[in-house]
Amino acid sequence: MLRLILLGPPGAGKGTQAARICQKYSIPHISTGDIFRKQIKEGTEFGKKAKEYMNRGELVPDDLVLEIAEARLTEEDCKHGFLLDGFPRTVNQAEQLDKFLNEKDLSIDKVLDIRVDKEELMTRLIGRRVCRNCGATYHVINMPSEKEGICDVCGGELYQRSDDTAATVENRIGVYNGLTVPLIEYYEKAGKVAHIDGSTGLDKVFGDIVIAIGDRE
Ligand code: ADP
Ligand code: ADP
Ligand code: ZN
Repeated sequence: MLRLILLGPPGAGKGTQAARICQKYSIPHISTGDIFRKQIKEGTEFGKKAKEYMNRGELVPDDLVLEIAEARLTEEDCKHGFLLDGFPRTVNQAEQLDKFLNEKDLSIDKVLDIRVDKEELMTRLIGRRVCRNCGATYHVINMPSEKEGICDVCGGELYQRSDDTAATVENRIGVYNGLTVPLIEYYEKAGKVAHIDGSTGLDKVFGDIVIAIGDRE
């Protein structure tokens, strides 16, 4: 049983590390960003509302986010733990999440705070490419696919997210610093935070995360 939260600015490597963590500990990866992009693709009512905010690099309003997140956490595969990536993102979301878990006598085990400086975040986000089909993440320089524009995993087409532009990235980093950074203190008070240097290589970051999670069986 392992309930984790990944905190870190856009481009810190949350999605990349989440894939490895979830494989190692056999827990589902819950990314609100991924859920929202799927809803946009499917043209749902929620997707139509979320799209505007996302393209501006602003947060989707809490009430909408909480509804989607709680529905996802109620699914069967979350009974034995989960990794939250990109949720909660405001103190209000964190309080509502705690309330939701407390009612079920559950709690978060660990919050992994991944840190990377702004210059590196910009480089990572502008060069990020994502598979349209399976969601695998690449970077044009740091982690290129074998064949340009094609996913190594599934052969799908790689694309650049519409919010990975210089102007939107700047805004998203500002939103993170203003609204999400206070969460670190919120979880710090509960003694749950592990700080991880996200600026090193993929394997080193993953190794540090495994150490922070500690022995689990
Ligand atoms: P997040 O989910 O936090 O926004 P991603 O996992 O999508 O971040 O990573 C952002 C970009 O940085 C991607 O292009 C990814 O390939 C690249 N990346 C992730 N981790 C590292 C790392 N440790 N070193 C260099 N590039 C990285
Ligand atoms: P990144 O991996 O680059 O940090 P995400 O995929 O997590 O980006 O999120 C993309 C966008 O989706 C955010 O900029 C925001 O508009 C919206 N979003 C995702 N999760 C949340 C959340 N918990 N609360 C509000 N908005 C969210
Ligand atoms: Zn793919």
